[in-house]
Amino acid sequence: MSNGISSQTPRIVAIANQKGGVGKTTTAINLGAALVEQGKRVLLVDLDPQGNASTGLGIEPDMRENTTYELLLDDASLQDVIQESSVRNLDIVPATVDLSSADIELISNEKRSHLLFDALRQPAMSDYNYDYVLIDCPPSLNLLTVNAMVASHSILVPLQSEFFALEGLSQLMLTIREVRQTANPDLRIEGIVLTMYDSRNNLSQQVEEDARDNLGDLVFKTIIPRNVRVSEAPSFSMPVLEFDGTSKGAMAYRALADELLKKHERVAA
Ligand code: ADP
Ligand code: MG
Repeated sequence: MSNGISSQTPRIVAIANQKGGVGKTTTAINLGAALVEQGKRVLLVDLDPQGNASTGLGIEPDMRENTTYELLLDDASLQDVIQESSVRNLDIVPATVDLSSADIELISNEKRSHLLFDALRQPAMSDYNYDYVLIDCPPSLNLLTVNAMVASHSILVPLQSEFFALEGLSQLMLTIREVRQTANPDLRIEGIVLTMYDSRNNLSQQVEEDARDNLGDLVFKTIIPRNVRVSEAPSFSMPVLEFDGTSKGAMAYRALADELLKKHERVAA
């Protein structure tokens, strides 16, 4: 039952793809917000030095004194790094550019791959009663992403509906396999979600067909369409679900949360 949801242990899902601009941060924010709408309590861990998830949820740079960096280095407790975001029941551990040096600074640390695992399993974690922890990974397969994979129950992979979308996947799968062999044998693939889909574009349809042919049930039925409201929301420090709750983007992220929750109910049953 290591992947079932118990009352003490939140389900930890890393949102990863080493390509930049594929919709990782957008998915972390909006899937998080959609899970909250369903009554869940969610923690978003910003593991990208760019800190886009932090910004998108209204945590300005001057509010980022204690961040994922301090959490990884054990320089701050969970209580110190967790902040409430602009959305109730969606908390966040923010990130700053400091995190970009962690890769090098940690190289001689024996536990370097397990730092996030340890941080998220502190006894204080259970005080928060989170149902989900979503980790927004950087666009790289570096030590930070490995930390996310070691700490997580599963990986959710956003796949941008454009040419070459599937190209980087084999490298990502190799890294997942390595992490399974060395540190986290139960690591699952939560699913692959097609993002920025344009139904008028043949290329989007082709990517979908290829993904479903090659990856089968791993691909979520829900597709996230390209929707300008989704890209506007972060500059208002809001998920699109709050910025424009009836937009196509908001509806799609609600459907994705539904699909994820149904999967987990089946696993837990
Ligand atoms: P990543 O975290 O993988 O680098 P982002 O989530 O930051 O990717 O998305 C990259 C860019 O694409 C951002 O400007 C974001 O606002 C935009 N974007 C993401 N998803 C959508 C969508 N469904 N429709 C329109 N724009 C999107
Ligand atoms: Mg990002």
